[in-house]
Amino acid sequence: MRDHAIGYEDIAEAELVTRRGTFRAVAFRDPVDGNEHMALVRGEPGARDSALVRVHSECMTGDIFGATRCECGDQLGAALDAIVREGAGVLVYLRGHEGRGIGLVAKVRTHILQDEQGLDTVDSATALGLPVDVRDYGPAARVLRHLGIGPVRLMTNNPDKVGALEACGIEVAARVPLLVKASDDNVAYLTAKRDRLGHDLPQLDAFPGARLGEASGSA
Ligand SMILES: [Zn+2]
Repeated sequence: MRDHAIGYEDIAEAELVTRRGTFRAVAFRDPVDGNEHMALVRGEPGARDSALVRVHSECMTGDIFGATRCECGDQLGAALDAIVREGAGVLVYLRGHEGRGIGLVAKVRTHILQDEQGLDTVDSATALGLPVDVRDYGPAARVLRHLGIGPVRLMTNNPDKVGALEACGIEVAARVPLLVKASDDNVAYLTAKRDRLGHDLPQLDAFPGARLGEASGSA
């Protein structure tokens, strides 16, 4: 557990009115990774026994441009919807997390290998000599502490993310699934997440294209 705190010169907050209503937008510059991130806060999540939280890794192609090859954009929207439904919660949007931390250019390079050689999201990274996941969740932990958030109910399908946040000192009281419907476009990606990265994606069981236990490529 790191003890870096976010300095007051590195944080600013204002109301942000969105299509989903009003949030508190907390922009901060992380003292360790130097990136500027944002936490969107609804209601008084710190006042609850556990706060509904999404820690979202940026994905420009999915979040901004609505790409359908991954489910990032849908998860972002679904997490915000869930926070609005509950009336309180936090979405931490982490920069520097493109392609699980390899960066935007490298991520698009993996797309070439996926499209032209049929490699999955894991093998396309390792084929380029890149790590499969180098995301640092420290900034999320620091801003949650800054916001006075205690235990969290974490919206994720990724058990490793629970462990990673706990390693940063955040108590995860529960994992809340955030399941996006499978489609012909995203089924290869979701299947690789399930079979190669251990994500819990039960919605794939009903999808004909999701070859159970038949992940492509080497281990
Ligand atoms: Zn994505």
